[in-house]
Amino acid sequence: MIIMYKIGIDVGGYKTLGVVLFNNKIIKKMTTRTETQNKEKFLSDLENLINKLTKKNVEKIGLCLPGYIKNNILKKSPNLKIIENVRFDKKIVIENDANCYALGESVRLNKKNLVGITIGTGVGCGIIINKKIYHGLGNAGELGHTIIKINGRKCTCGNRGCLEEYISTRALERASKKIFGRVFSAFELRKLAEKGNKNSIKIFRKSGTYLGIGLANICNLLNPEIISLGGGLSKNKWLVDSAISEMKKNIYFNEPEIVIGKYESCAIGAANLIK
Ligand SMILES: [Zn+2]
Repeated sequence: MIIMYKIGIDVGGYKTLGVVLFNNKIIKKMTTRTETQNKEKFLSDLENLINKLTKKNVEKIGLCLPGYIKNNILKKSPNLKIIENVRFDKKIVIENDANCYALGESVRLNKKNLVGITIGTGVGCGIIINKKIYHGLGNAGELGHTIIKINGRKCTCGNRGCLEEYISTRALERASKKIFGRVFSAFELRKLAEKGNKNSIKIFRKSGTYLGIGLANICNLLNPEIISLGGGLSKNKWLVDSAISEMKKNIYFNEPEIVIGKYESCAIGAANLIK
């Protein structure tokens, strides 16, 4: 049986988006502030949001969460510690945010095979093969922790030289300290770049070259038809343009189409966890 109505909820660092899909088109959406301090409030907010989204007694709901998930339990999440190890109601199916993003983009763009990459505080990656999320043994898609520099910077994962240490918001902050002598946030750097500050633009471009190497590695490994970039830094044209040109230099075969994704895709992906 094909389910026509689907509900998906994307829990972001600041806001939570809930959508109702009919034939995979959003027919209703609601946004709330994400509760990050109190577990009971988080769970009651979630229940309230579900009740506002639908009056029907739905069997399953997809929930997109940041972090490491195993057996429908959020095992580790630096930004949502309050719900680590919570056993959700059995009607709720949970999935990692980068995987939801990639699945949502494959639905939105109607592509069977796609790689979705989210760039922001970290680097997430979801691999869609034949319309399904590829999990491997459980954690496929850790692009952010693929090593692009031997003996490079120390990463939060314990290894050295991970991609995430060169293109995330913290990497940009670190680069700003080196160049300007003080730390600028990614947002501040962008404002400077928009005013034509050459050093700021240089930081984004340099960071983009590392992303480009990461993209080329994906292309050479998976030869995807399309790569969708999401997350805050995907809107940065200096970083993305530089990434695409570096990718092109390092691809062995045909290059994929690169698109910038939509914010709603995580919620759409969450809804599509329900089959
Ligand atoms: Zn790492």
